[in-house]
Amino acid sequence: MLTQVADCVLTHRSELLENNAVVVLGGAGALVVDPGLTGGEMACLAGDLRALGRPVVAGFATHPDWDHALWHAGLGDAPRYGTARCAAALRDLRSGADWRARVAEGLPPEIAGEVPLDLFGLVTGLPAGTARIPWDGPPVRVVEHQGHAPGHAALVVEDSGVLVAGDMLSDVLVPMLDDERDDNDPVEDYLAALRLLEGVAGDVDVVVPGHGSVGGAGEVRARIALDRAYVHALRDGDDPDDPRIGPAARPGWEWVADVHAGQARRLARGGGRRATPRPG
Ligand SMILES: [Zn+2]
Repeated sequence: MLTQVADCVLTHRSELLENNAVVVLGGAGALVVDPGLTGGEMACLAGDLRALGRPVVAGFATHPDWDHALWHAGLGDAPRYGTARCAAALRDLRSGADWRARVAEGLPPEIAGEVPLDLFGLVTGLPAGTARIPWDGPPVRVVEHQGHAPGHAALVVEDSGVLVAGDMLSDVLVPMLDDERDDNDPVEDYLAALRLLEGVAGDVDVVVPGHGSVGGAGEVRARIALDRAYVHALRDGDDPDDPRIGPAARPGWEWVADVHAGQARRLARGGGRRATPRPG
């Protein structure tokens, strides 16, 4: 089911992990961002768009994590974009002979058999510095930053005042740092990404996170502040006072406290590889 969140912008929610696929409507058809997780969900989205008479004319993956770079044949073969770094990471992943097995290994067991991998990660990289998604529709600004994943991009649907935040600014997931590599500063990268999003906060009234609830006016800055406080606490070795990992955590999301504990452990050790695959 599609839900309208602003003029020309709709979302389609995945059951597990509350992933938000985003649809931007243009004259020629629809731009689909991070379409969903299971074959059934993506076929449902494709059916909804057919019913609206809007063919998919472009796709976009906010970042190279499995739950954001899937695709379904029913959505058609429109060009799919991501940042150059996102596309490179996906190309690299798919180049391994055992890539399917590696991706499948990280899937949540509840839906592992329902996630179609054939079209996973087939994304064309936009040259670094690309300002807007090349498509025949309302202007959609690309705001690339590092922090959660290489080449992570938020999108600003300018005329609609919508920030598509990818895996940032969620009300259910704490900031998940890119602390798997040893060639970056995960804390500083994340803080820089939040500063960048703060810079566009004045242009938007709605924030659509990759997971969780859509936020209205005022929520963008509040979520940035909460995420910044979390990252500061993580950096300083403090216990974050954060509703997403305390007793107030949404039912079904208690595991986010484990994500936090894992990050805190890794940071305390000064980085290193993830002990467990990242869930979202
Ligand atoms: Zn995600």
